[in-house]
Amino acid sequence: MTDPQPINPSPDVAKILDDLARAHRILEMEGHGDMSMGHLSFRDPQGRGIWLKRGNLGFEEVTETDFILIDFDGEILEGTGLRHLEWPLHTELMLARPDINVVGHSHPFNSIIFAATGQKLGAYSNEGVWFEETGVPHFTLTSNLVDTTDLGKAHAQAMGTSDAVFLRNHGASFVGASVRDATLCGIFLEKAAKMQVAIASTGWKYQAPDHQEILTKRTDIYPDRARNNFWWYFNRKLAVLEGRTPDPM
Ligand SMILES: [Zn+2]
Repeated sequence: MTDPQPINPSPDVAKILDDLARAHRILEMEGHGDMSMGHLSFRDPQGRGIWLKRGNLGFEEVTETDFILIDFDGEILEGTGLRHLEWPLHTELMLARPDINVVGHSHPFNSIIFAATGQKLGAYSNEGVWFEETGVPHFTLTSNLVDTTDLGKAHAQAMGTSDAVFLRNHGASFVGASVRDATLCGIFLEKAAKMQVAIASTGWKYQAPDHQEILTKRTDIYPDRARNNFWWYFNRKLAVLEGRTPDPM
């Protein structure tokens, strides 16, 4: 692997890339790792394109320098290293969804069970509550790479206004307005999937609360201050795992 050329982000972008690098490592810790596959991106605030994790790295290996800036046609504007083949999955979602700034795509084990079976994810635990409003649709056009702009558009269309989408026999994508929200979304998606797979495998009868109660739960469990609290919790957990002293917060 050749050494990457240094990127030169502005201080505000550098701070977010630092968060985004830790988000990759947190997601590895929470069951999203699959060798060097999977990637997160952040919308460039200057409108030049997206900052995308470079290729050939596992989630647990990503540092704040491991990003390339690409435009919406995939041209590399800053940094070097492998451009993930699935870059159109990111650019087309960013173009379709002005409400999001962060896109993640990974291959989490339990989410793939949903992606392979077409099952509906429900709010059977607190994590599933995150997805109650718009659900988690299934992208079924291909199980192969989302590596063309047409497939990127179709994948974005399948996701619609949801926070996540299952990719048939492949993986999942998840989004957020911030690094914090996209990371929590990815974590909760896999936790909800894992919970539901376990519940279903018991053969016992099970049910979710009614729709209105779930929506109220979502407001009560995941307000902004709780999201900050959970984000910093996962940062401290990562710091301990990596043998670092957690930042005071
Ligand atoms: Zn993939």
